[in-house]
Amino acid sequence: MTLSKQEMPKQSYLVESEQILHSDIKKQIMQLFSLSSSSAENIDEFIDDISDNFISAGDASSDVDLDSLAAKFCDSKVPSQPANFENYLEYLVDNVIAHSIHTASPKFIGHMTSALPSFMQPLAKLMTAMNQNSVKIETAKSLSFYERQALAMLHRQIYNFSDNFYSEHIQNSQSTLGILTSGGTTANITAMWCYRNAVLGAKDDFFGVEKEGLTAALNFYGYKGAAIIGSELMHFSFDKAADLLGIGNRGLIKIPVDSNNRMRVRSLRQAVAKCLQENLCIIAIIGIAGTTDSGGVDPLLDIAKIACEANVHFHVDAAWGGPLIFSQQHRYKLAGIEQANSVTIDGHKQLYLPMGIGMLFLREPQMAQSIEKQASYTMRKGSFDLGKRALEGSRPGMALFLHAGLNLIGSKGYEFLIDEGIRKTQYMAARICAMPEFELLAEPDTNLLIYRYIPEPLRDVVAKKQLTEIDNLFISQFNERLQKSQRQAGRTFISRTMKSTTCFSQEISIVALRAVLANPLTTEDDIDAVLNDQIQIASEISLSAYNGLKNQDSLLDCVS
Ligand SMILES: *Cc1c(COP(=O)(O)O)cnc(C)c1O
Repeated sequence: MTLSKQEMPKQSYLVESEQILHSDIKKQIMQLFSLSSSSAENIDEFIDDISDNFISAGDASSDVDLDSLAAKFCDSKVPSQPANFENYLEYLVDNVIAHSIHTASPKFIGHMTSALPSFMQPLAKLMTAMNQNSVKIETAKSLSFYERQALAMLHRQIYNFSDNFYSEHIQNSQSTLGILTSGGTTANITAMWCYRNAVLGAKDDFFGVEKEGLTAALNFYGYKGAAIIGSELMHFSFDKAADLLGIGNRGLIKIPVDSNNRMRVRSLRQAVAKCLQENLCIIAIIGIAGTTDSGGVDPLLDIAKIACEANVHFHVDAAWGGPLIFSQQHRYKLAGIEQANSVTIDGHKQLYLPMGIGMLFLREPQMAQSIEKQASYTMRKGSFDLGKRALEGSRPGMALFLHAGLNLIGSKGYEFLIDEGIRKTQYMAARICAMPEFELLAEPDTNLLIYRYIPEPLRDVVAKKQLTEIDNLFISQFNERLQKSQRQAGRTFISRTMKSTTCFSQEISIVALRAVLANPLTTEDDIDAVLNDQIQIASEISLSAYNGLKNQDSLLDCVS
């Protein structure tokens, strides 16, 4: 790639020049909108080059530190003159692209964002060229029906209703089989919104929570408050939902999990009974299919049964684990998902779609009518406007990626991707168990793995299962330093989280390393390289850590 290097100031792409006349601005701006712009082709080539280099980078990121990065972005003036594109691109390469995360790198195995199939990039270009707005028919047209079709396909994969069911609802403007959102967060909030409005809906001379507000609704129905129940590992989108819907974070009831991160069913039963006793309105019970922390799957069948007995809506947050439904081998792990009133699945996680796609699926096609809104300029009753039963307004035609993914990858393709991810997770788990340097912290349900590094002097104690709370604090502190150093070095990447565990019959919280094995390009060699990188980094920090171990009291002070 050859960018012409003009006398460009290092700090800023903005070339301050003399006053440019109004007529010049007009010419320049109209040029930007012109179809025959001569620079457009060049730009395309540059961008393709930059993209290819970026995607094929092997390491996880650059080793720049965050403070010096922040310092690059401190100018808050809007440049008065249009910048030259080549200069701007050079600025972009040096300052932004050079320090972005290589999410497609085979050694970036710490988050739920990974490589994309190659057809997504050209489709993204097409989507921008078409610039549809899926909020309403008048700005999207065919895309609205196309989106409904793609959502119906996944609905069928989850619920597998009859042909008749799908012919009746797939393109019926009164029915909503799914809602396309910007992510799992919005999907989860939308589900809670539907249920709040349905549970506290209109009755007799009461117009429902939607019109009269939460206080009036609770009063009318004789409740003292409202609650959402799920495991303590619920994604924080439910905190947002409880807050936004007026339920309050105290109304989010968190049930403890077992050592494999699955909700304790007995505690759930007790919590439901307590809500009824205290006259709290249960908006929904949540089951998680693949927790964000550790990939654990809640006992969905048991939860479905409890929700059914209590006559409460059952929502499954399968943002991460949902695509296991494609796998003959692993689908059984989600047994019970088909009994959920609704299911969240993220497209931008294990469906390998670009960032910005989540979905909510509804068992009852009429459920979304509880959140329906009209607007006089559009969103008319009976219309196909997708925005009338959605939290979001204007949104891009992301259905393009979803529909293309389902067709170009297919259910067999998704099955392969899921099976591979889980196979590699089992490989990594076996490696961790075989290496004295590491301890596996939970048996993986899906393709997330939590483990930790054990500093040499404590390995015997771990083997004998005699770690004290102070030992654990020391190991946690060590792992936090290890993860931060690894992130800073940028060669490989693993994230970290907290896990609760029992230590001499006491509940304590420990730092865990978290691997996410979703990138199809990650090989067993890459996994070995990541673990070896951690051992290497650990050997560099162990000396100062020994000193900390000698003075455990002061260590306790600095951790707590
Ligand atoms: C990622 C995730 C979410 C949130 O989805 P976003 O797409 O990040 O908004 C919700 N729940 C679970 C279990 C997740 O893994």
